Amino acid sequence: MSNCIFCKIIAGEIPSMKLYEDELVYAFLDIAPINFGHVLVIPKEHHESASTIPEATAGRMMKIGTRLGIALKRALDYDAYNLHLADGKAAGQVVMHAHLHVVPRGVDDDFRWNWRQKQYADGQAADLAEKVMNKFKVSEQE
Ligand code: 5GP
Ligand code: ZN
Repeated sequence: MSNCIFCKIIAGEIPSMKLYEDELVYAFLDIAPINFGHVLVIPKEHHESASTIPEATAGRMMKIGTRLGIALKRALDYDAYNLHLADGKAAGQVVMHAHLHVVPRGVDDDFRWNWRQKQYADGQAADLAEKVMNKFKVSEQE
C-alpha cells in the first residue's frame, strides 16, 4: 500500500527501531510509548483490519508479541504487559495497517485503561448471545 506509514516502515522508507523481523511479521518500538519499550507487531502484508490477516500470520503476531512481552519484562524490569489491538476508528485505530501493541507494565506505572463495567438486565445476555452466534455462523462461510 503506497500511502501507508507502516508499509513504508517495513520497506525501510521511514526509519524505525526494529526489534524483530521474519517473512511474516515486523516488530518495532512505538514512537510515542505508553511506557518505554512499547512495541508494535505488524503483518508485512498490508491489512487494514486484523480480521483479514491469514491465520499463520495472526498466530505469528501473537507468538512474537508475547515473546517480546517476556523480553521487555526481563530486560527492563517490568512486571507484566498488555496486548492491545484496535480494529476500526471507533475502537481507537489511528494507523490503518493492523498492529498489535505490546505495552510493558509496572505495578506502579500510574497508567489505567479506562475500563468500565455495565450490567445486563434479566434475559438480555441470552438474547444478545443468540444474535451474535447467528452472525458468527454466517461469518464461517465468508
Ligand atoms: P493505534 O492508535 O492505531 O492503535 O496505534 C498507532 C500507534 O502507532 C500509536 O501508538 C503511534 O504512536 C504509533 N505510530 C504512529 N506513527 C508512527 C511512526 O511513524 N513510527 C512509529 N514507530 N510509531 C508510530
Ligand atoms: Zn500498510
